[in-house]
Amino acid sequence: MAELEIYQFPCLSDNYGVLIHDPAAHVTAAIDAPDADAVQQALQEKGWTLTHILNTHYHADHTGGNKALKSDTGCKIAGPAGEAGKIPGLDDPVGEGDIYQFGNFEVRILETPGHTAGHISYWLPDAAVAFVGDTLFALGCGRLFEGSAETMWTSLSKIAALPPETTIYCGHEYTLANAQFAMTVEPDNAALQVRIGEIRALRQKDEPTLPTTLQLELDTNPFLRPSSPEIQKRLGMEGRPDWEIFGEIRQRKDRA
Ligand code: ZN
Ligand code: FE
Repeated sequence: MAELEIYQFPCLSDNYGVLIHDPAAHVTAAIDAPDADAVQQALQEKGWTLTHILNTHYHADHTGGNKALKSDTGCKIAGPAGEAGKIPGLDDPVGEGDIYQFGNFEVRILETPGHTAGHISYWLPDAAVAFVGDTLFALGCGRLFEGSAETMWTSLSKIAALPPETTIYCGHEYTLANAQFAMTVEPDNAALQVRIGEIRALRQKDEPTLPTTLQLELDTNPFLRPSSPEIQKRLGMEGRPDWEIFGEIRQRKDRA
């Protein structure tokens, strides 16, 4: 199996930038471009040359660096076909089921709308890694700016169906606040209790809580757990459809 190198770095107030590098093919992609200077600095630290940007959605904290990085490096920009007009410098619009070739790696496109109507996620099965932007967070999920609870639940279910050992990279470091909310929804979840201790320790040292793994999210993230008997009981929603319970959890988080 070819080797994929991955470098994550914090930028803006609470975003993560990520670079992926295929050393055999000499290609490097930025997963989103929150800030051109931060991406350039990360490239310099690694000694990598930018060849691609893979945008998850059009929000400025994910595309703000597109134009400067493209004019500096001539990189190719891939992004959601459903938001083609809103992605600065877009070269390659991609959608559900498309396979985008990055060096020796196949990048599979999942449409994961809800946070925005065209949001996509990138899955590299041979590297067992997925980049989910603002759809799924560690212990959380994106706000529903442009989609219903049912739409977002369908998107999260697509991510939840990937191999559980998949490493998940997300757009933001929101984990501590998400953890505090998660405890109000499923306080008796032993795996969640353990994880919160780990998260507090990491954040006290100013260390990232990301990436995460799908298995850990399936075990502890309330937004992926509407079928949990404890959650259903606590919300008084026993036997309701998953998407409806998910929607109630999302509304409670919005009010929290
Ligand atoms: Zn966003
Ligand atoms: Fe964002």
